Amino acid sequence: MQTDRSAELFSRAQTVIPGGVNSPVRAFRAVGGTPRFMSRASGPHVYDADGNPYVDLVCSWGPMLLGHAHPKVLAEVGRIASGGTSFGAPTELEVELAAEIIGRTPVEQVRLVNSGTEATMSVLRLARGITGRDKILKFAGCYHGHVDSLLVAAGSGAATLGIPGSPGVTAATTADTIVCEYNDRDAVLAAFAEHGDRIACVITEAAAGNMGVIPPAVGPDGDNFNAFLKRTCQDNGALFISDEVMTGFRVSRSGQFGLDGVEPDLMTFGKVMGGGFPAAAFGGSRELMAHLAPAGEVYQAGTLSGNPVATVAGLTTLRLATPELYARIDAASERLQAEVAAALTAAGVPHVIQNSGNLFSVFFTDDGVTVVPDYATAQKQHTERFAAFFHAMLKQGVYLPPSAFEAWFLSGTHDDAALSRIVEALPAAARAAA
Ligand code: PLP
Repeated sequence: MQTDRSAELFSRAQTVIPGGVNSPVRAFRAVGGTPRFMSRASGPHVYDADGNPYVDLVCSWGPMLLGHAHPKVLAEVGRIASGGTSFGAPTELEVELAAEIIGRTPVEQVRLVNSGTEATMSVLRLARGITGRDKILKFAGCYHGHVDSLLVAAGSGAATLGIPGSPGVTAATTADTIVCEYNDRDAVLAAFAEHGDRIACVITEAAAGNMGVIPPAVGPDGDNFNAFLKRTCQDNGALFISDEVMTGFRVSRSGQFGLDGVEPDLMTFGKVMGGGFPAAAFGGSRELMAHLAPAGEVYQAGTLSGNPVATVAGLTTLRLATPELYARIDAASERLQAEVAAALTAAGVPHVIQNSGNLFSVFFTDDGVTVVPDYATAQKQHTERFAAFFHAMLKQGVYLPPSAFEAWFLSGTHDDAALSRIVEALPAAARAAA
């Protein structure tokens, strides 16, 4: 496989962009080698700057639920862009997108923003403003964007690069952030016992996807971790925030809420709802959202928030995300999980595959580990095995997330032909990881 053009571009990029990339995980630091510079994409495929095609299991880290360059999304984007790209004034499209999100989730109002980071940053401010409390509780390995106060024991790129916090985030900023292990109920109860009346909110990924996929575990009472968090927050006058930036409109039509039915006080959304453009949102009940400016006292704003081009891309994507589409993606995901497990087992590679709906990831664990419930366990996996697996897949034309700590994403265009190409590549990749 010729990758000279990617190599050339990466070398040039490193002179003008820190690390040559605009988001750290893209740099292949965890797996080594030269990142592929992509030049175009269509359906389930991305094409690099040398013209090599790959079956794409990154899907832009989640947004491309319909596959790349969906003709209807492109047509709507073109139609709206030709009428002007930004007005800094309200539009009908924003109302439509808000209504679409509200129709699928328990929120009654949403505020549109430009990125998941902005959504979680804003929702924390709102939760603190409403409760008049300072502290927030998050989980190790959960990633909520690069918000200062949440960049503690964060997943995604921070997990990939082994960064526990980040220089530039002051001790004062994180002094009010309490971190517990994911799925650890005792730790949450202990935190509330110690700080109860000072905790404004608990924020969690609706199902963890940024330390590999770790679903909210079901406890002895039959309730899952999200239900436990909701109850614990209620008991202590704190707000329960579910971050559905990754899972929202992906793991089901209504995201993780559609799978477990736990109603959060506040929610964040991103990725799929932008249809490949920068759009995100946060929402909650009318009563809670009334605290936001202009009617309320908590300030939040944005020059490009509700941008018409991003909004129509998201709206068109959601409207095309039918139950039939989710059924197809779920079936593709199940098939792929089974095929990956079979190939790794045949090659004698210990592993655990976990999923929440169609979102899944592969942990290259030690022999005997059957469940990965938290970040501490996720960190024990053999990342060097993942790197060998990743490169063997890449060489055979399959583009996986370049980190052992990331979820694999499918789209409605991952048909039999695309899945078969992935399946054919698995035996050699599994042998490389052995
Ligand atoms: N929340 C979750 C659960 C995410 O997965 C991400 C990004 O991966 C974010 C928030 C941040 O979103 P963005 O990268 O759009 O700022």
